[in-house]
Amino acid sequence: HLNFNDPAFDETQEEFFELVNSTGAKIAGVIAGKRYRPDAKYFAGSGKVDEIGEFVEQHHASLVIFNHELSPSQERNLEQRLKCRVLGRTGLILDIFARRARSHEGKLQVELAQLQHLSTRLVRGWTHLERQKGGIGLRGPGETQLETDRRLLGGRIKSLKKRLDKVRSQREQGRRSRQRSGIPVISLVGYTNVGKSSLFNKMTAAGVYADDRLFATLDPTLRRMQLVDTEPLILADTVGFIRQLPHDLVESFSSTLEETRDANLLLHVVDAVAPDRDELMAQVDSVLEQIGAQGVPQLTIYNKIDKANDLQPRIERDQQGQIQRVWLSAQTGEGLELLRLALQERFPADMPYAQPVNP
Ligand code: GDP
Repeated sequence: HLNFNDPAFDETQEEFFELVNSTGAKIAGVIAGKRYRPDAKYFAGSGKVDEIGEFVEQHHASLVIFNHELSPSQERNLEQRLKCRVLGRTGLILDIFARRARSHEGKLQVELAQLQHLSTRLVRGWTHLERQKGGIGLRGPGETQLETDRRLLGGRIKSLKKRLDKVRSQREQGRRSRQRSGIPVISLVGYTNVGKSSLFNKMTAAGVYADDRLFATLDPTLRRMQLVDTEPLILADTVGFIRQLPHDLVESFSSTLEETRDANLLLHVVDAVAPDRDELMAQVDSVLEQIGAQGVPQLTIYNKIDKANDLQPRIERDQQGQIQRVWLSAQTGEGLELLRLALQERFPADMPYAQPVNP
């Protein structure tokens, strides 16, 4: 029984809860704990681990997820002591990414990241994957099980990388031909759940998968869009960002994010009524910086104005008179014409756009 209005529940915890929910796992309960100095062996203190253990037994839980990064040995020690599976934050996010990946490339990226994550935890045997298939004939002469496991895993990682390279170079070609065509690319960015897919659908009037769960948009989806009085445009629905995206994951998905770096304009979508709106915007900006997209012009979309009585559709211009902010609702459609106006002003019908932003 969770009460998000309880002051003990901060937004990070609320997000964690949503993340877990989006995996489809049935949550038996949440055990709170604040620890400023993590225990080297178990992350949590001994009393807390006992408490978790009792809870696991009582509810026959099969999985314990920590809202924190765990070291490989902590994860293993916990699994031994709790006698059930244990996931840290990266493991959880990878699981979610795996469910949300839509494109072939996205799926390969997730699998590679999962295997790389697994390989850091490979200390006493990667038993479950290959042994189930028989396992006979896998071990080379004189190899220990661990050495065999390492070799198998290394081989899978290598072959995945090769396949990814191929897919990427195909996408690279597609991107180059889009650039040659001179059609401006507009990329939607923003924190997860702010309404990017909804806006994408409204703008392109196409049925892209949008739902309330997180990461509906792990893969970039491109669509041509023709507005009255503008050039034809390409709208790209990219990734949903989340708080504290582990650094190595940003790496893994960097090629997906490259689309963003090469866009002519970013529509940075924010939830106008979210209490932590500005903090989330800053998080997105910092990811954009990490991938070298900080120089791409941005138009900020304050979405979901229908959720507050005092918000009206409107635009805000900078001192040069350029539209910088649009307040609208992707759901009701109010304010969409203002976004169209902003795009018409930036991409008027008779201007050539053959120059990519980052050649
Ligand atoms: P994304 O993760 O950023 O792509 O977000 P989605 O487009 O999937 O939207 C997340 C949730 O917010 C969905 O439940 C949408 O129905 C809802 N949503 C999107 N736009 C609006 C809006 O303008 N107003 C309201 N009230 N809800 C919206």
